[in-house]
Amino acid sequence: MRGLILDVDGVLTDGRLYFGPSDELKSFHVRDGHGIALLLRSGFPVGIISGRSGAATERRLSDLGIRDFILGVRDKSSAMDSLLSRWNLQPGEVAAMGDDVTDLILLGRSGLSIAPADSHPAVKRRVDWITRAPGGGGAVREFSDALLFAQKRGSGSGEDHRC
Ligand SMILES: [Mg+2]
Repeated sequence: MRGLILDVDGVLTDGRLYFGPSDELKSFHVRDGHGIALLLRSGFPVGIISGRSGAATERRLSDLGIRDFILGVRDKSSAMDSLLSRWNLQPGEVAAMGDDVTDLILLGRSGLSIAPADSHPAVKRRVDWITRAPGGGGAVREFSDALLFAQKRGSGSGEDHRC
């Protein structure tokens, strides 16, 4: 895999939306954030496609240094095309993680489809990999750790990480 596309609600968050008098609040897991930072630092592109937009999401993406994001989209497939052309990659070269049926088009086109443990059953039936962790609870970190571990093993660094 040469890139990662993530949904936000239910993947980077637990899917809950907290409505205050003026703000919409969401909680993001710090360990997912660190996993994304590690991927970006290793030159692995991470992009975001979400059906919702909002200040909370934008603030978190800015916090993580994610520049490739498309928010408030209905057509996730054409949003995927935009990210792929930006990265000069084919659909089969990217992994995608989503939790609901609106992500199925994107997941179906990707080379590796992933769903957090608490995703909608219709999504879990269709993906290549269901993480052990739930959305907003380490699902993204589970993938990033596995990917970086595999890259390290594949690079022949000589270090032995078996346990
Ligand atoms: Mg979602």
